[in-house]
Amino acid sequence: MQRKPEWLKVKTSASEKRQAVETLLQKLTLSTVCSEASCPNICECFGRGTATFMILGRECTRNCTFCCVGRETPRPLDPDEPKNVAKATAELGLRHVVVTSVTRDDLPDGGAGHFAETIRQIRSACPDTVVEVLIPDFKGDGAALRTVTDAAPDIVNHNVETVKRLYPEVRPMAVYERSLDLLAHVKKNAPNIYTKSGVMVGLGETEEEVVEVMRDLRSVGCDILTVGQYLAPSKQHHPVVEYVHPDVFASYKETAERLGFSYVASAPLVRSSYNADRANAALRIL
Ligand code: SF4
Ligand code: SF4
Repeated sequence: MQRKPEWLKVKTSASEKRQAVETLLQKLTLSTVCSEASCPNICECFGRGTATFMILGRECTRNCTFCCVGRETPRPLDPDEPKNVAKATAELGLRHVVVTSVTRDDLPDGGAGHFAETIRQIRSACPDTVVEVLIPDFKGDGAALRTVTDAAPDIVNHNVETVKRLYPEVRPMAVYERSLDLLAHVKKNAPNIYTKSGVMVGLGETEEEVVEVMRDLRSVGCDILTVGQYLAPSKQHHPVVEYVHPDVFASYKETAERLGFSYVASAPLVRSSYNADRANAALRIL
């Protein structure tokens, strides 16, 4: 694989704001996907006082080959977590909060009740904050999904992550159509909730396949799209097949907008939750 190009180099720096976020997370025993997934934007996001909370523990029951989240046996849920996420949202003064999770196929409801409680606690502590949940597929369980949508988040995000052809090697325990169905069900059951999805590129897909994913997402009414460069967490993970040029990201953005997405973020360092609040103006949520 070629060396990392200039456009993917990020400056790391310590800042008081970043330290304050880390101290708060430790105090409330909260996890973030920012740390657990070694996100390259952590200095920037923590430096701006934002973070994406990761609930339902730190151990995942799935085995996506691009992901560095832990795979040990999951521990019981922390009943204080929903309240603590709400407290952290309030203390950080977040006007847009993103809550994600590991996948917990071992739990009867996949953790949907815990998600719903987290949404309710945030609403109660911070009524003006936009609540975005980035949820697992709950193995296609409609009742679990309904539990989440009944708690009325503003945005339901569920990433398809890659093109359909690469699912067996990239997301072996997920099903492309099941992820599309989830997004379709949100629109059907709760049309007031915006839907969002994301794709990583550089995993070996073709440009045509990425556009096909965009079409599939639009066919289920998906409103927001993110496209970012895949970076391998280690040599044991799925390799980076290509560093996609920024011009290609710009062309993905154009195509996605033409296909009707209300908001598109497409650039090498874009992640599902990167500057998530920027979609709000386009969607007139705030
Ligand atoms: S389901 Fe999510 S947390 Fe679990 S391995 Fe896949 S990407 Fe990582
Ligand atoms: S882009 Fe998202 S996951 Fe990465 S550091 Fe920022 S908030 Fe965290």
